[in-house]
Parts: sequence; C-alpha cells; structure tokens
Amino acid sequence: MIPAPFTYKRASSVDEALQLAAQGGDDAKFLAGGHSLLPLMKLRLAVPEILIDIGRIGELRYIRDDGSHIAVGALTSHDEMARSGLLGSELPLLAHAAGQVGDPQVRHRGTIGGSLAHADPAADLPAVILALDATLVASGPSGSREIAAGEFFRGLFESALRPGELLTEIRIRRPQAAGWSFQKFTKRAIDWAIVGVAVQGGSVALVNMGPTPLRASAVERAMSSGAGPRDAAAHAAEGSSPPGDINAGRGYREHLARVLVARALEESRSRA
Ligand code: FAD
Repeated sequence: MIPAPFTYKRASSVDEALQLAAQGGDDAKFLAGGHSLLPLMKLRLAVPEILIDIGRIGELRYIRDDGSHIAVGALTSHDEMARSGLLGSELPLLAHAAGQVGDPQVRHRGTIGGSLAHADPAADLPAVILALDATLVASGPSGSREIAAGEFFRGLFESALRPGELLTEIRIRRPQAAGWSFQKFTKRAIDWAIVGVAVQGGSVALVNMGPTPLRASAVERAMSSGAGPRDAAAHAAEGSSPPGDINAGRGYREHLARVLVARALEESRSRA
C-alpha cells in the first residue's frame, strides 16, 4: 500500500507541464485529481518515476460557452460540472452523470480530464462524452490536435493520447435532440457502475460492457428504423463483450444492458 519512490514536480502552466513531460519521457506521468492514479501507485500497478502535478493549473479549470460548443477545461472537477448552471441547461446529461460519480470526496478531487485519460471502461464520463459526440483537445510537443470521442478510447485503460500529450479541453456541441437519460446500476450508491447507459437523442453509449466505452450501434439503428424503446433495447448487448467479475457475470451484464437501455430510452423520450 506504499507507492514506489518518485520525484514530484508541480507545473503552474500548460507550457511548463509539457516541458516537464518532455524532459521526463516515459518515466513521467501527469497527476490531476489523483483518484485513479494514486490508488494504482499504492498497489504498484503504476510506478512512474516522475509525477507532474497539473492539479493547480488554473487555465485548465473552466466551463464556458464558446458559441458553437460548450468548452470544459480538463481540470474541471466532477463536482464543478454537477453544479454548473451552464451545463445544467445546455448539457444536462453531463451535469447529471458527473453528480453520480463516486462520493463527494471523489467528485471534489476527480477531474474530467483524468477520467477520460484514464480510459477505464467502468467509468461514467467516457460513455457520456461518447454519447455526446464530444471532441477532445490534446496538446503536445508539436502543438494541439483534436480527437473525436469515438476515436479516443483504444482499449482497456488505453487512449489515443501520445506520450507526453496533455488533454486540455473537451468540446461539446449543443445536442440537436433534447431527450437524455443516464442510468447507472450499482450495488451501493457510491459504487462504480456494474452497467451504465448514457442516452442523448438517438445516441446510446454503454458503461462497462467491453474493454472501452461502447456505442450501442444496433440499438441506434433499430431506433432510427422506427423501433420503440423496448424493441430497440433488445439489441443492447449486440457487439459488446462485457467482463465477468465478482459483481456480475457476462450474461447478467447483458441482461442489465437490455433493461437499462429500455429505461434510458423511455426516460429520454419523456424529456424530449
Ligand atoms: P488522476 O488519478 O490524477 O489521473 C488518472 C490518469 O489520467 C493518470 O494516468 C494521469 O496521468 C492521467 N491524466 C490525468 N489528467 C490528465 C490530462 N489532463 N491529460 C493527460 N493525462 C491525464 N469514476 C467514475 O467514473 N465513476 C465512479 O463511480 C467512480 N467512483 C470512484 C470511487 C472511488 C473511491 C475512487 C477513488 C475513484 C472513483 N472514480 C469513479 C474515479 C474518479 O472519477 C477519478 O477521479 C477519475 O477517474 C480520474 O480523475 P483524476 O483527476 O483523479 O485523475
């Protein structure tokens, strides 16, 4: 339960963080809220030699209306999103889901950038930004680039970020279809989702149904062909490969996905 020794460096700007990351190379890791990285370090599943603390870079902490889209800085905490009036009115799916992450301590420390960069398929926000078709902005030694949410999650705990690249901003266009829903099935209120579902209009994304967050494409196709929530939800497990673990077997997760997608589609329809 004690991490391996490491060198701690604190960055006060994006430029400084990128410089430190370039100097540290493969031995360095960014530290944001620390609520995923530090537990891994204590278990020695992650052993970075250099930790670059980005947690106090104020320029990455904001939620603002940029006209064509809403921009969320990577260091914005789950709690800030859950309480944001702008998100509440423009992107209620994101505000609501952020309020369902863990417990109050986790929501005050954890950041959207950390959650997405960590790429845990059991996390809530990756599926939400997938359903919202967000664009992620990453900065690295050779400048900034945009990555579509659908291209970002590459595998279990694996994202499209290159070594030394910092996720700086999440851009989300205002949804054209108003209906939304977020369903999260847990044993206890503060737990990770055994299965989760994020719906925005005709987009449906699944939590913990494979090595990455997934779009439930078969459900989306059924809906666009006119199927109702129950019939469309029958396709929820198609194309998924859910894990079996101490909380639930594969078959149970597949069943849950069908039940939760039906609930989500019905709730989304009632809000449209
Ligand atoms: P960190 O732990 O600091 O970093 C995580 C990883 O991302 C590291 O590899 C780090 O190098 C990298 N990283 C961080 N920021 C950036 C960046 N801007 N650019 C590039 N790389 C970056 N999550 C849920 O979704 N749902 C839950 O129900 C839930 N429950 C939790 C319960 C507990 C008890 C705990 C401890 C955590 C829980 N979490 C849950 C995870 C929580 O949301 C984390 O805060 C989040 O996953 C990681 O965010 P962080 O800011 O803490 O990142």
